Amino acid sequence: MARYTGPVCRLCRRERTKLFLKGERCYSMKCPVSDQATDRHSRAYPPGEHGRDRMRQGSEYLSQLREKQKARRIYGLLERQFRNLYAEANRQPGITGENLLRLLELRLDNVTFRSVWGASRSQSRQLVRHGHVQVNGRRVTIPSYRVRVGDVVAVVPKSRELYVVRRNLDTIDRPLPPWLQGGPERTQVTVADLPKREHIDEPVREQLIVELYSK
Ligand code: SF4
Repeated sequence: MARYTGPVCRLCRRERTKLFLKGERCYSMKCPVSDQATDRHSRAYPPGEHGRDRMRQGSEYLSQLREKQKARRIYGLLERQFRNLYAEANRQPGITGENLLRLLELRLDNVTFRSVWGASRSQSRQLVRHGHVQVNGRRVTIPSYRVRVGDVVAVVPKSRELYVVRRNLDTIDRPLPPWLQGGPERTQVTVADLPKREHIDEPVREQLIVELYSK
C-alpha cells in the first residue's frame, strides 16, 4: 500500500499543530511548530510560498477538511483507507466519530506505537512490516491488522534486544493507555479493553470529520 513519503514536518505546519510524526525531534526545540522552537527552526505557519497568507480564518468546510486531514496524518492513512474506515465506523452502532477513533487506535501499528516499541507511528509501522511484532504468538506484518480484546501483542523474541526497541523503551516517557495492559516484560502487552474516547489523547475533533463525510 502506498503511503506519504514526503517531508513530515510540512504536514504539522499545514495543520498548525504538532502531530508527533518524527519521534524524538518532536519533543525537541528543533520542532518547527513548537512554542520553544529557536528562531532558526521556528516556522509555525503553513508551508509553501503563500503559507503566511493562509493564516486567516477559514470557512466551516475548511475546518472540517483540516480536521479530517489532521486525523488522517496522525495515524498515517491514505485518503481511501481513511474513508473506508469511516464507512465501517458509520455502520457500527454508537457514535460514529468515536467508532472511527477506536478503529484507528486498534490498528497494529498504533498498538506498537502506544507500547513505545516505536518512537513514531511511521517507525512502528516499519517494525510491523519488517516482522518484529507478533499477535498471540504469530508474526503479523500488516500494519492495519486490527487487534481484538484479549489479544497478546509482543515484540518477537528474536527482536527484543533490537537497539531501536530498547532505546525507545529506555528513553521515551509515554505511559501505556488504560486499554493496554503491560506485562512484566515491557515487550509484551495485552489488549484489556476497547479504547474509550477519554483514553485517546490525540487533538482531533471527530465530530467535524463526521460532518464533512455526511455532506
Ligand atoms: Fe516535525 Fe514532529 Fe514537530 Fe511535527 S511535531 S513538526 S513531525 S518535529
